[in-house]
Amino acid sequence: STALVLFRRDLRVADNPALSAACAAHAQVLPVFIHASGEDGEWAPGAASRWWLHHSLAALHARLGSLHAGLQLFQGDTLATLRELIRRSGASAVYWNRLYEPASVARDTQIKSALQQDGIAVHSHNAALWCEPWQIATQQGQPYKVFTPYWRNLRPQLQATEPLPAPRVPGWRELADSLPLAALDLLPRIAWADGLAASWQPGEAGAQELLEIFGDDAIGNYAHARDLPARHGTSRLSPHLHFGEISPRQIHFALDRRTRATDTRQRPDVEPYLRELGWREFAHHLLYHFPHTPTGNFNPRFNDFSWAPADQASLARWQHGRTGIPLVDAGMRELWHTGWMHNRVRMIVGSFLTKNLRQHWQHGARWFWDTLVDADLANNTLGWQWVAGCGADAAPYFRVFNPVTQAKRFDPDGQYLRRWLPELAVAPLALLHEPWRDADLLRRSGYPAPMVDLGESRQLALDAYGALARG
Ligand code: FAD
Repeated sequence: STALVLFRRDLRVADNPALSAACAAHAQVLPVFIHASGEDGEWAPGAASRWWLHHSLAALHARLGSLHAGLQLFQGDTLATLRELIRRSGASAVYWNRLYEPASVARDTQIKSALQQDGIAVHSHNAALWCEPWQIATQQGQPYKVFTPYWRNLRPQLQATEPLPAPRVPGWRELADSLPLAALDLLPRIAWADGLAASWQPGEAGAQELLEIFGDDAIGNYAHARDLPARHGTSRLSPHLHFGEISPRQIHFALDRRTRATDTRQRPDVEPYLRELGWREFAHHLLYHFPHTPTGNFNPRFNDFSWAPADQASLARWQHGRTGIPLVDAGMRELWHTGWMHNRVRMIVGSFLTKNLRQHWQHGARWFWDTLVDADLANNTLGWQWVAGCGADAAPYFRVFNPVTQAKRFDPDGQYLRRWLPELAVAPLALLHEPWRDADLLRRSGYPAPMVDLGESRQLALDAYGALARG
């Protein structure tokens, strides 16, 4: 019998439960990717995600080639295309790995019941998470809203079990009219993506390589170095996780095996890293149970918050790293050039936008959505609602990051600032953190004066947030 394997954001062959199950049960498999623009609701992939997807599909095709198979590409409505492929291939079953975004859940539910009515077996699997969002609940049977008790429940259930190997593909079925990759038209038309290409290797092999590097160089010092944006102190696996080129199970198993082999006295502490993957799980738990949150405040009190009116000129300065606040600008430029930004800096640019500029967090979420290679509806929603203070388990409203203090603390020698603000690279350290103290430096370098006074705008934010807190 023949089975279709529908790839979406599970772009790997190892530890891919849908692919493995199909290969185990059928004589022939037909791996397909259907580009269905318009089926993601309001959150169609942004430019950076499309760039990544293009290269990841190429990598998956090559990887399947090493298993004597290939990826077939199609475009159009997913259900209609599947029905057509089933008709032409004679497939009796469809396999996929689950997605958790509200638009995907609704679509997949509909496709599943339509195909079942056609007499086709539909098998869906979990490839992306340790634990399905509905498998974990409070004692009252409710979804969690706070991370720590969520993690206290989940962590003891996690074991470093061996992930599935790449399957043996029994037989590969090929249809004649599969599209060439270029026909999906995923690449940007401007030369902006050169920096992305220099920074990343999309695909399963790129993910494994980063995991190796992280395990060799960084895991032992993660708890400390993860806060230093100048260093490669984190795994940078986020885009690979988003596209399913690697799974939390694979990461957990690899790190566990590696650290087990180490002398216990030097055994690096994997726990803080697993906890971050726990935040990713929690974000998916929240998105699944509270599907309105990508556009609506988790905390409804914020529906009355006095955001400043949308200000396109201010937003443009923030987006392009021209706010005059060095750490904010360095982060925004890192994002533009590489499609990624360090987590601590994400919090700082987010705090600046929502508190110092008092622009609605949706403006930030949308810009990140378009420019991040790891743009992920669950994680991005959680991150922005956390920063703005309106999220489930959010930063307290009076927490306004001071970008100068943060830079002095987490980039003490200015390495990160100098890397992303070349016009200030020769400035002495004290001025690098506060260039506005030397009008001559601003004039010579062309670096802008701050667009807001940090102290005054902080006070205005505290007043507005305080009024909300007092009701
Ligand atoms: P590591 O420190 O190596 O962590 C390992 C993995 O754990 C990450 O790859 C990621 O999958 C997960 N993780 C780590 N921190 C978080 C977190 N705070 N929340 C959820 N998962 C986490 N992450 C995204 O993947 N996509 C987004 O769109 C996104 N938007 C964000 C927006 C804001 C405003 C903020 C403050 C954070 C956002 N994050 C997002 C979370 C975090 O910044 C990134 O996951 C992290 O920087 C990725 O780098 P890394 O892979 O080196 O992380």
